[in-house]
Amino acid sequence: MMVKTQLLSFRRFCALLASVLLLLLLSGCGGASPHVRTGFAFDTVVSITYYDNKDSGAVTKVMDRLEYYEKIFSRTDPESELYAVNARLAEAAEQGLYNVSVPLSADLYRALHLALDYAEITEGAFDPTLGKLLELYDFGGTEHTVPTEAQREDILSHCGWQKLETAEVSRAGDVSAYPYQLTVADPQIVIDLGGMAKGYIADRLKEELKAEGVSSAIINLGGNLLVIGSKPDGKPYAIGVLKPEAGSSENLATFRITDASAVTSGSYQRFFEQDGVTYHHILDPATGLPAESGLKSVTVVAKSSAVADILSTSFFVMGEAKAGAFWENCTDIDVYFVDEALNVNKYLHE
Ligand code: ADP
Ligand code: MG
Repeated sequence: MMVKTQLLSFRRFCALLASVLLLLLLSGCGGASPHVRTGFAFDTVVSITYYDNKDSGAVTKVMDRLEYYEKIFSRTDPESELYAVNARLAEAAEQGLYNVSVPLSADLYRALHLALDYAEITEGAFDPTLGKLLELYDFGGTEHTVPTEAQREDILSHCGWQKLETAEVSRAGDVSAYPYQLTVADPQIVIDLGGMAKGYIADRLKEELKAEGVSSAIINLGGNLLVIGSKPDGKPYAIGVLKPEAGSSENLATFRITDASAVTSGSYQRFFEQDGVTYHHILDPATGLPAESGLKSVTVVAKSSAVADILSTSFFVMGEAKAGAFWENCTDIDVYFVDEALNVNKYLHE
């Protein structure tokens, strides 16, 4: 059964914009006035706020790189590298092949490698092979299909991060070829990196901004935040844990960070309703259904935005008890769980 929703409603656009502005409100009180570049990528509002009196061309140049990264990681853009990888797998599946190898660019290799490492340590709570289910639900689009139990079981039997293996390969004499490769045991898999791509890209943009001499900035990819350095007055940036409701700009808690990333995953960010049931975009790989773990949102603070992004998605799937136990073994990671009663439960390494 299908239902239609607007691709990006005006209301949602305003809500996204509000979350960008809210951040500026919180962080823009450090003396020097901020410069902001705003754009639209990954179906969301993105911005770079910087305080150095830098040539704005340098920041614009980095902002323009977003398109380059979108053309690597998008599952749905027919021009992206990931799309081409999935298309090759689908072709191989048609031919009844197994153990199919595909070359990868350095960025796609690094991101997938990290995704698989974390799939292992989160015991599969993070799983980059859920693309076929995500195609059906189509959270970012308009044609939402809720798979039947039989469909879910059938698709899940072909999913699983254990079926992917990344490797560095030497291709003597062929310098044009990508030096990295992915081997997929079951090519019916559709790869999706939506749970970590923005984090990975934020880390890359940070490197690029620093190379341009920017030493104080905020990269905001649809609420996925990464701050470079501290505010110009030397104080940390203030960040808010938003009330987990669509369009809300109210903070339930605030915290301060320097040179770190804060990423939130929540059931309120991307969802649709069908027959009175709400389906949100973070799937439990064990069931193929939206994860129901008693949480509304999880915010993870970590040095690396890719890690914060992966863990916020993973912790949302795990629920607070399991994720809290996981956190015990992490150094340098803070977590803010918002439960269904809107309590904020903090796990901080002080
Ligand atoms: P956002 O996309 O809003 O930044 P997340 O980082 O939590 O939020 O990522 C959710 C996205 O991750 C989904 O849209 C989907 O692409 C993908 N995804 C959903 N469930 C999982 C999962 N269990 N493991 C890995 N990726 C997932
Ligand atoms: Mg994530």
